[in-house]
Amino acid sequence: MMNLDIPDPFITTKTKQYGLAKGYQYDYFGQEWIIICAACGIDLYSPTKYDMLKTHLYHTRNECLGGW
Ligand SMILES: [Zn+2]
Repeated sequence: MMNLDIPDPFITTKTKQYGLAKGYQYDYFGQEWIIICAACGIDLYSPTKYDMLKTHLYHTRNECLGGW
């Protein structure tokens, strides 16, 4: 139950590659993943890790534009 801090290699690689996020966290109570956007600092939420990456990319490309 408490073993979800193990980094996912795919997510870690993509995160470094795009330089997008400060970190991904799992909210046990809301059962959602939380992304803190590195560019604008807001929290993004997603039910799964893979949707989370998509959600984050969508956010940086269409909403805060990744700080550009
Ligand atoms: Zn943002």
